[in-house]
Amino acid sequence: MTVPRPFVYFCPSTESEALALLRDYKGEAKILAGGMSLIPLMKLRLVSPKYVIDINRIESLSYIKQDRDKIRIGALTRHHDLERSDLLKKVLPILSETASWVGDPQVRNMGTIGGSLSHADPSGDLGSCIIALRGELVIKSERGERTISIDNFFVDTFTTVLQPDEMLKEIIINVPKDRSGGAYLKLERRAGDFAIAAVATQISLDPKGICSYAGIGLTAVGPTNLKAKKAEEFLLGKELNDKVIEEAAEIAASEAKPTDDPLRGSAEYKRAMVKVLTKRALKISLNRARGG
Ligand code: FAD
Repeated sequence: MTVPRPFVYFCPSTESEALALLRDYKGEAKILAGGMSLIPLMKLRLVSPKYVIDINRIESLSYIKQDRDKIRIGALTRHHDLERSDLLKKVLPILSETASWVGDPQVRNMGTIGGSLSHADPSGDLGSCIIALRGELVIKSERGERTISIDNFFVDTFTTVLQPDEMLKEIIINVPKDRSGGAYLKLERRAGDFAIAAVATQISLDPKGICSYAGIGLTAVGPTNLKAKKAEEFLLGKELNDKVIEEAAEIAASEAKPTDDPLRGSAEYKRAMVKVLTKRALKISLNRARGG
């Protein structure tokens, strides 16, 4: 089936109009952002909302800006804009790097960061990056606004804490301190595909070269994007030599929850790849934190 079931289409131009529609059609409406995930699901009739609320005309949802020590990104910001942003390349290069791995240019031109996070595909690249950066998410409804950590956002595959009347509005990330570096490494079957496994790492070093911040997010190896919490804790307070990085990668691999799948390989293979990718990503992050 390649044609969606009939639906009523709304195209609000303000956030308050969109939130009023979400309130009125609670549970029967879906937000349409880039449409890169929602439209295929509707065409396959796996999702059939009665009402579609297209937010593409809401200009106040699309921006990347620095507000003192925070970077604020509107939910409707396209992957392409993340990839090309001079501000992000300077301050949060891992985010531009991660966006460049999403799908192909067509997908990046349409897909949005808010759509990617709200869709909650464990193979989504941006979720792991935002986990490594300890991002916060601003969620809005007519009832008010709440800000939650990315660590509390994903509930299960394709499921988040978003309520039917809520919209993801903004992603907030702290500007990393001096001597910080990050990397996103993705293993894929072919260019533009979803990950077999991928890893985001972000670290900071204190003036003596000791690890003062560690963030690690894992892609496609669990029911959601995963935080490798034990590996992060292991790195803190240590000098990041080869032995420590090897051990942290081993711990991250043990935190992955991969499953066998006929397309992208066995759970054992994916776990082994998490170890390899974490090790490499940490080494690149370390080099970048040292100014390399
Ligand atoms: P939509 O498809 O418009 O929406 C997705 C879901 O999120 C819907 O349920 C919608 O209601 C909800 N939603 C959207 N915005 C909001 C909001 N602000 N608040 C609350 N709910 C909202 N992704 C990757 O990470 N890596 C890849 O390699 C990759 N490859 C792809 C290849 C192809 C061919 C395609 C079609 C997609 C691929 N994607 C990939 C997915 C892509 O990143 C999508 O852009 C993303 O998953 C969804 O973003 P969207 O803006 O298109 O959202």
